[in-house]
Amino acid sequence: MRRTWSVAVARDDRLDVDWRHVGQVMGSWADRAEISPVGEVMWLAHTGSVEVADALADAVTALGLTPLRSSRTDFEDQDYATADFIGVTGADLSLDPPFVLGEPFRDDPPCPECGHHDAFDVTQVRPVRIDESLLDAPAPDGGHPGPNGWEVVNLPDGGLLLSTRLISALREVAEGLVVEDLLDAHGETSARMAALRAEVAVLTPCPRHTRFEGEPPCSSCGTAKSSVDGDFWVPRSVVGTADVVSRHPRRAALLYVSQAVFAVLADVPGVRRGDPLRVCED
Ligand SMILES: [Zn+2]
Ligand SMILES: [Zn+2]
Repeated sequence: MRRTWSVAVARDDRLDVDWRHVGQVMGSWADRAEISPVGEVMWLAHTGSVEVADALADAVTALGLTPLRSSRTDFEDQDYATADFIGVTGADLSLDPPFVLGEPFRDDPPCPECGHHDAFDVTQVRPVRIDESLLDAPAPDGGHPGPNGWEVVNLPDGGLLLSTRLISALREVAEGLVVEDLLDAHGETSARMAALRAEVAVLTPCPRHTRFEGEPPCSSCGTAKSSVDGDFWVPRSVVGTADVVSRHPRRAALLYVSQAVFAVLADVPGVRRGDPLRVCED
């Protein structure tokens, strides 16, 4: 995996700081970081070294400006080869006309521990009903379905729908697969799709093997409070023999699947690979 640390400096004309001087200071880091201007309103610096990013941010602070820090991790083929679980998402189908009919989801209150709330924090209050005709149409992003239509499709609550053909194929490699029926536009059980559910939720990674750059995630909802440095480890005592795990408390969203399951899904149109997870034998 490759990590990149970034420092952004935004121009603020309310402060008595000479923007040209800021440019000279940023330029002086060009041998240690990739420095680029954004018009005349911002400077960006990217580096593979956290020490360089720290020192550069200190230099910006010394000028009287407030640097914005961020970091990202780019995973490489080797990370996926050694992963035990791989994040997976599918095609996003239309909101207008709607693929999901009748509003099956209701907002949850914010997390009682950390106050976080996002689009996945919902309760399903009635069965999910879908317009199956959209499974055979191009997606809003212009992508085209395969010969069996879209077979892996995202739901607005972060859930994942799979075709019955894929579910049969997955049952050959994943013993404890959990799926839930859904309804077609007429209110009959869909013969084409069902919703995949995780067998277990993993909200926080193994604290013994996972290194955080700040606080660990919220233990109630799993929301990150800092970046993970290196692999995201989950203990065997939590995942057991599951082939599908979720990093969301409702076990519908943020799904990660075993290598065996991912191998079945990998080449299906619309499928995208997310982050890798690794299992530690605790
Ligand atoms: Zn929380
Ligand atoms: Zn561990």
